Amino acid sequence: MFWQMEQETLKRAKLEALQLKRLKQTLKRVYDNVPFYKKEFTKCKVKPASLKSLIDIEKFPFTTREDLQANYPDGLLACGREDIVRLHTSSGTTGKPKAVFFTKADLDNSANLIARCLVATGCTKHDILQNMMSYGLFTGGLVMHYGAEKLGMLIIPSAVGNTDRQIMLMKDFGTTTLHLTPSYALYLASHFEAKGINPAKDLKLKRAFMGAEPYTEETRIRLESSMGIEVFNSYGLTEMNGPGVAFECTEKNGMHIWEDNFLVEIVNPETGKQLPDGEYGELVLTTINREGMPIIRYRTRDITAIDPIRCSCGRTHVRIKRIHGRADDMFIIRGVNIYPQQIEQVLMSVNGVGKNYQIVLESSEDMTIKVEFSKGYFDGNLDNLKSLRGTLVEKLKAAILVRPKVELAEPGTLPVSEGKSKRVIDNRRVY
Ligand code: AMP
Ligand code: ZN
Repeated sequence: MFWQMEQETLKRAKLEALQLKRLKQTLKRVYDNVPFYKKEFTKCKVKPASLKSLIDIEKFPFTTREDLQANYPDGLLACGREDIVRLHTSSGTTGKPKAVFFTKADLDNSANLIARCLVATGCTKHDILQNMMSYGLFTGGLVMHYGAEKLGMLIIPSAVGNTDRQIMLMKDFGTTTLHLTPSYALYLASHFEAKGINPAKDLKLKRAFMGAEPYTEETRIRLESSMGIEVFNSYGLTEMNGPGVAFECTEKNGMHIWEDNFLVEIVNPETGKQLPDGEYGELVLTTINREGMPIIRYRTRDITAIDPIRCSCGRTHVRIKRIHGRADDMFIIRGVNIYPQQIEQVLMSVNGVGKNYQIVLESSEDMTIKVEFSKGYFDGNLDNLKSLRGTLVEKLKAAILVRPKVELAEPGTLPVSEGKSKRVIDNRRVY
């Protein structure tokens, strides 16, 4: 099943021709209307006409998070203020937020991209979506909401938090589909356990869309089996509309990225040079179908790879692999580069580990991993916990080449966040 079958299954040659046409229009639009881009293009000695084919995109300058912040609030608008109907923002860890603006056509387009994603996972207008993402400046709530509405699903705009009420809504209205962050999903799963709810028997859940933060395949497997649902990976970022940029289909083999709306590149994060399909690097995206605020060659800082192999679902748009993490999530302990996902992968594959963890960086030499054991694992026999800790230390050492300290915590005792989780606590002193 497709939402926009013709666009989703375009032959590659036609898709690339459409991309070229839209890219040329976008370059002209920003050159003519956004002083920032005119200046940047001139610095790189390019004009919109310098792009003859898609590979010429490499001649054009990147746009960074800092460029968006420097142009806050509306320096990158490519149309009049009167044509803008909505804005969203995303805050970085430092400085001003990044503001992104949408015209009516942009919003309609983004709702269609979401509807494509939902249909690709098997949703129909008979499904009931409980949207457990925050409604407001964050895109996760509203952007998903309008896409699901376009498809005709019944939406329960429950937003984040109040887990007991969330469960009541699921029961009372027969929710089939959830949209939430993986960290909140882990919390929800432990809440089900604590309250003696068996989701497979007591609820009508079929699937969940999880995104907004990185998580591992091991976490997906755990959540699928503990909740008796299918989990689909959902990738997006405010700068590119929010959710609906890339989504898994029922094959669950990577996320289709809507190439008639986004031009995709993977570059070496250090040199900025393009990398071939299949190699991991930083995802760089250009909006090619946006009126309000087109963005050229946006450095997402997210690390992934393109999988160009045709998917058996029939969609011709390439897939990106699960996000390894952000280029800036990496930390160094004893000279070794470590991504939090490497740690999560180990934790979630070990029996006896519960649903929550935290990585505490103590110094350039030491880190402590605090991890909950699962409910029912500790039966009063301390040897069990000792052996779990030993297993974790050894497996972590093998995966990240550094021996961490591991502290086990009672289920439900580590802090939970309702939005994006804060997994890494950095207590290293900066001199
Ligand atoms: P925001 O603009 O606040 O929605 O944040 C977007 C960022 O969240 C992305 O650049 C990614 O770093 C992260 N993100 C979103 N979806 C996923 C996902 N499915 N897997 C990993 N990271 C994600
Ligand atoms: Zn597919």
